[in-house]
Amino acid sequence: MLESIILFILTGLVLLLSAGAVAALLFRREIRSIRHRNSPWRCLRCGRCCRMNVILKQKDIERLKEAGYREEDFVERKCGIAFLKKKSDGDCVFLDQHEDENGNRWTECTVYSLRPDIGRRYPEFKWWFIRGKDHQCPGVGKNDETTNNAE
Ligand code: SF4
Repeated sequence: MLESIILFILTGLVLLLSAGAVAALLFRREIRSIRHRNSPWRCLRCGRCCRMNVILKQKDIERLKEAGYREEDFVERKCGIAFLKKKSDGDCVFLDQHEDENGNRWTECTVYSLRPDIGRRYPEFKWWFIRGKDHQCPGVGKNDETTNNAE
């Protein structure tokens, strides 16, 4: 009887540890990002986030259409999900690249005031009560602003 109980507890522990290890592997980026929830942030206009897969809400699409953009020019649907279309080089269709005479490069969102909700929050994310900042954004930790500069 005692052996069965010990075996049961050990099996439970192994299953729990395995589940934890799988979750840590699947969500390692998010777990690291949680540590940065209070980190300062400033956008360095590198454009990295404008090359990610950006999911659009219907209200994002409507906002851009009301401003005169044609849906077929900026929406790409994959399995029924609307994403911001990308150019052949991987940049968002609304992203402009700039370079000055000294070789300094920066990017500019040409629809900044109309940008999708997900872009307004980035690099911050929130799952229910859990929040963090995408630590892969090079602007995380760069100054004393603790919130996105979204309007
Ligand atoms: S939010 Fe971060 S990743 Fe996006 S352009 Fe600014 S610094 Fe780059």
